[in-house]
Amino acid sequence: MSPDETNPEHQWPLPPAWMWACARCVTLYRTMRQVGEEIAELRLTGERGVDWDPFDSTLTTQMALGEHLAEHHADLLPGWDSDCSTCGDHQSRIVREKDPDHRRATAIRFGNEHLARHIYAPPGTVGFL
Ligand SMILES: [Zn+2]
Ligand SMILES: [Zn+2]
Repeated sequence: MSPDETNPEHQWPLPPAWMWACARCVTLYRTMRQVGEEIAELRLTGERGVDWDPFDSTLTTQMALGEHLAEHHADLLPGWDSDCSTCGDHQSRIVREKDPDHRRATAIRFGNEHLARHIYAPPGTVGFL
């Protein structure tokens, strides 16, 4: 086992109970973890020639879950984390964006997609998006 896998920064957090009450969340979450596990297994068996970086390979499935959480569960997402610089970036972008039309709404949605990562992504990768 590499140091990566024992580091709590790389552990998947336990998703909150309300996610299991939403069929779409469950599907998206399981898909994300399944892709991650398949990649981890390829990595353990030393299989090469495939893209086995666990972060890159699960990114698409993570983004699908994040978009769903931002769109349907925005009221259940956690607040901004003062220890997270990406939270700070999103916050200041939303404050700067005075345009009442789409741009502000887009900044808020991206912010929510990031907040969603605090729920489902390993702590070490939360700030990547
Ligand atoms: Zn859901
Ligand atoms: Zn954050």
